[in-house]
Order: sequence, then C-alpha cells, then structure tokens
Amino acid sequence: MEDYMKMFMEETNWYNEIVLPKKLHSMLPHFLRSWLRTTLCAFLLYPLAAFFCVNFWKRYASSSKEKMPSKREMVWQALGAYQSIPFSTLFSTGFEWMAENGWTQCYPRISDVGWPSYVIYTIIYLFIVEFGVYWAHRLMHDIKPIYKYIHAPHHRYSKENIISPFTGWSGHPLDGALQETPYGIILMFVPVHFTTFLGLFLVEAVWGVIIHDRSDPKAWPIMGSNYHTFHHTSGRYNYGNYTIFMDWFFGTLRHPKLNANHVKPS
Ligand SMILES: [Zn+2]
Ligand SMILES: [Zn+2]
Repeated sequence: MEDYMKMFMEETNWYNEIVLPKKLHSMLPHFLRSWLRTTLCAFLLYPLAAFFCVNFWKRYASSSKEKMPSKREMVWQALGAYQSIPFSTLFSTGFEWMAENGWTQCYPRISDVGWPSYVIYTIIYLFIVEFGVYWAHRLMHDIKPIYKYIHAPHHRYSKENIISPFTGWSGHPLDGALQETPYGIILMFVPVHFTTFLGLFLVEAVWGVIIHDRSDPKAWPIMGSNYHTFHHTSGRYNYGNYTIFMDWFFGTLRHPKLNANHVKPS
C-alpha cells in the first residue's frame, strides 16, 4: 500500500508540474498545488465544453422552435459556475488526497489486477456511482432544507428557454460538490485504477455541461439532456446520471415527450 500511495503522489505531482509554474512547487504544499491545478483546468474546461455544446446546439436549434437564452443570460450562468468551481475542485482534490493517503482501494497499474478484473471493477464502480449520484440528487430534492439552500439555485432555471450548457455548473457552491461525493466514497470500497478514476471524473464533469444542451440524443439507455431538461421544468423526476436505469428502477422516470404537459408543482 505504501508503494501505491507513493505512485499516486508521483502521478498527481506530474500533473501539477505540467499545469502550474515551477515557482509554485516550492511555495505551496502538495494539496494546495493539486487544488490549484484542478481549479485552473476546470476554469478552462468549462467554457470550452459549453461553447462546443452551444455551437452544436445552434445547428440543432436552427431547425427547431427552441430558443437559446440570451448571451447576457449565459454570461450570468457562467459567473455562477465560476463561483462554484473552487468548491467542487476542493472535493475532487480531496478524493486524490484520499488515494494518496491510503484511504481508498485504488491501484496504480492495470497489471496490478489484470485486464479482466480491471474491466469488471470499473463496471461495478460505474454501476454503484449511478446509484450514488441518483440518490445524492434525489435526496437533495426530498430533504427540503437542503433543496432550499443548496439545490434550488440550480433549479432557478426552470423554464426550457433559459437552460443552456452554461447552466450545468451554475448553482450553489456545495451543489456540485455534494453530488460528486459518491465518486469518492465508493473508491473506499471498490478497487479502481487511479488514472481511470481521474478520467471518469473528468468525463462526469463534462457530462454536467452536455446534459444541459436540451438536445435529444435518442440513444437508449442514455439519459439524454431532454430528460434532464424535463427534470428542470417539472422540478422532479429523472434524477439519474448517465442512464435511465435508476429512475426506471425507483419509479421516477418520465419520458420528456410523453409527459410534455406536466405542470411544475407549486
Ligand atoms: Zn435537481
Ligand atoms: Zn441541471
């Protein structure tokens, strides 16, 4: 385990060296350097992913009645996201810290477990993450004080025509951070390849942008952004992450087209 912890530290140190200026390495402790690195990357990744989705959307929207929010509205959404990013990255840096300090079942090389176990563990991890993210999101709705103070700011985008890819990371600073906690907690119980975990977390972050582009990917069982748009306009249902399975299993799945006339409860 000591060797593993050292290898995780070397890996995150290498990422820090790529992103941060040399001067900072002697000035800041490792945790702060990692937090700064993930925050800077998120600051860059968020607008890139959102701009990409908006451009994709322009083409999609040109043949539909759906309007994009004004540029001003999207700038406001982006400002809201930039306030939240340093808190979210504090949590994700905490997951790296957990691995570096032996709190997780992470392993550094695929050869440590072999390819078949690598694939099986990754699938198990992703399946439990689906469960965890679903319940983290659903409980944020069901526990009223948490909804009111933490999740409601993200749900002020309750009309379809003000939802945009920039909405994705916009909300209370603790909102995204709490919804990403399953990623870290499950690492304590399921062996996951460390670099794969970092990659999966990155994909999840981008997914948070994509799922607000209001498109209909028609790719069952993926929970397309039309499902998440319905989550915003109804204020309930479709709490899931990548797939519709958890909502289907727990009875909260609603197809956006079949339920288009649903009225948001007061
Ligand atoms: Zn919600
Ligand atoms: Zn949303």
